Amino acid sequence: IIEMKNVVKSFGVFKALHGVDLRVGEGEIVVVIGPSGSGKSTLIRCINQLEEHNDGEIIVDGAEVGRGRKSTVLTEVGMVFQSFNLFPHMTVLRNVALGPVRVRGLSWGAAEERAQRLLTRVGLEDHVEKYPAQLSGGQQQRVGIARALAMEPKVLLFDEPTSALDPEMVGEVLDVMQQLAKTGVTMVVVTHEMGFARKVADRVVFMDGGRIVEEGPPDEIFNSPRDPRLRSFLQAVL
Ligand code: ATP
Ligand code: MG
Repeated sequence: IIEMKNVVKSFGVFKALHGVDLRVGEGEIVVVIGPSGSGKSTLIRCINQLEEHNDGEIIVDGAEVGRGRKSTVLTEVGMVFQSFNLFPHMTVLRNVALGPVRVRGLSWGAAEERAQRLLTRVGLEDHVEKYPAQLSGGQQQRVGIARALAMEPKVLLFDEPTSALDPEMVGEVLDVMQQLAKTGVTMVVVTHEMGFARKVADRVVFMDGGRIVEEGPPDEIFNSPRDPRLRSFLQAVL
């Protein structure tokens, strides 16, 4: 459902992605790991065109995106950010309902019904009328996930969804993501949570220096890493 071919992304003279090839199949859960500055965020931000790539090709659900193309296919891609990015002046329910109203043309009634259902699914049925500031970080991030789901995306991208959270709240968000992974949605997840990668990923992609250095099933990546850079990365984080 995602195909990246020789994707290059530069910021000025600095190359953040040096010709990345990545394919993600429908329903696949891909976890991206790697050291800080290796290009993980840039990779997923290029997929939904928060960054425009300079060279190569990105195809999402059959349509090429970026490099001047404005494609409606990007409404099929949902994103969950490290910093939640909720609207502070809107209730939780409205935050989740807004996208379907604005982008999908649902009525507020229908969108709020959908939002209610999704907020129940992430365990927030008792908090729908609150404002984001009245929630814990873990709860806010679960709202972020419900909001992404409200668009019924074909692909969900996560950029370190738990790294802004206090340690005791990481588990509740990972649990929601793990449940989600079982529903058949395609997920690309950048995370430092190696336990999650091991348990939930179909495939783990290791990046270093703007390149995909190694990829494979979690069992191979964690138990028999080949590239020395992956080995030393794992030694540092495990
Ligand atoms: P982290 O684990 O710290 O989030 P990352 O793997 O997500 O790191 P990226 O954010 O993709 O790394 O950044 C890759 C490289 O590109 C870094 O060297 C970063 O400084 C650079 N970079 C990213 N965004 C920009 C930008 N908007 N302008 C200039 N340089 C950037
Ligand atoms: Mg990043």
